[in-house]
Amino acid sequence: MDSEHLAALIPTDTFQLTHDSEKQSEIVVINTCGFIGDAKEESIDMILAFAEARKRGQVKQLFVMGCLSQRYKKSLQDEIHEVDAFFGVDQIDEVASAILQRKTEKIPAYYQRSLSTPAHYAYLKISEGCDRSCSFCAIPLIRGKHISVPQEVLLKEAQLLANKGVKELILIAQDLTYYGIDLTGKREITTLIEALSQIEGIEWIRIQYTYPAGFPKDLISLMVNNPKVCNYIDMPLQHINDQLLKSMKRGLDGGKTRDLVRSLRDEIPDLAFRTAFIVGYPGETDEMFEELCDFVREMKFERLGVFTYSAEEDTSAFELGDLISEAVKQERMERLMEIQQSISLEINAKKVGKTMKVLVDRLENGFYVGRTQYDSPEVDNEVLIEVNRTSELMIGNFYAAKITEADFFDLYAEVIE
Ligand code: SF4
Repeated sequence: MDSEHLAALIPTDTFQLTHDSEKQSEIVVINTCGFIGDAKEESIDMILAFAEARKRGQVKQLFVMGCLSQRYKKSLQDEIHEVDAFFGVDQIDEVASAILQRKTEKIPAYYQRSLSTPAHYAYLKISEGCDRSCSFCAIPLIRGKHISVPQEVLLKEAQLLANKGVKELILIAQDLTYYGIDLTGKREITTLIEALSQIEGIEWIRIQYTYPAGFPKDLISLMVNNPKVCNYIDMPLQHINDQLLKSMKRGLDGGKTRDLVRSLRDEIPDLAFRTAFIVGYPGETDEMFEELCDFVREMKFERLGVFTYSAEEDTSAFELGDLISEAVKQERMERLMEIQQSISLEINAKKVGKTMKVLVDRLENGFYVGRTQYDSPEVDNEVLIEVNRTSELMIGNFYAAKITEADFFDLYAEVIE
């Protein structure tokens, strides 16, 4: 979304904007991520590749913004001289000024969006920063304390998005369930979603990044009773072993984590549960890892991400050391993903023969590619509809489609109306 805000400040009559990694543009802005090792590496590789292009004269100006730049500005400046300027996370106006070589006018945030997503869905960032103290996480150090965007601002932004044709709003935050506490002293996430669902044109509201401890129960009834709220939840659980959860400072032990997953499953029978785990956290023994594997087999999460532990400076877990070898971490990640692969196939196979509402995202390689309410763009499953076996479909429209075939991570379907 930061890139979308930046793009909105650049006049398109004088600049042609592209979102790609080809080294042919005159001015290049790299928006970096600096939360964990892999993301940092990827960002640094990208900066170095463009620094080379800048040296060869293919690129005239090179700017770097975002988390990595915020966190390691000084050392990046010292090491990579080809970059014209580095900017932190709250400096979008400054990046725009550097590109335009003049000061930009400050306009309210909700006007500053040039969507990089297809026109029918958009991310809505409802808060920034985080007040939790998970031992492994550098986000609060980079992004600061939790700050909720006031509801009236979000409603205006969502209305503008709906006016532009957005049908699906994907609510994001570092900790979505904390929304409102800094504004009114109480959780306001349910009130916010209820208000957003009144906006005409918005048909799906998706909830991403929730925190398990203190999960607001009224959010469950909202998901059950409000047809616009997707039966989808993204809740990173990180682990299931008591000792590790305590060390991670997650606020819930294994038993309570199980109870929460079970109560979500019981109350929302067709819920798609996306979660994420860390493997290789300091002190994770083979037995603890097996406990995690059993938990994954038992809960059969619809979607699962696995990350290898990355020791981050200035986090409280950093002092514990990085005790588990990268090879073991990698092996554990692969094993967990293997378990998930067969779970995913089993879940998908049960959908064959069912009719589902599909939102068509794009046309690609002879298929209309869409999603159901159970899938978020880019990270989850897709529904593929063969172009040759259907009448013309409109990108951004909903269709009823019958699932004809399933594989590990995708479904095949035929439109029936
Ligand atoms: S809740 Fe998420 S963002 Fe906040 S500290 Fe924990 S892992 Fe980091």
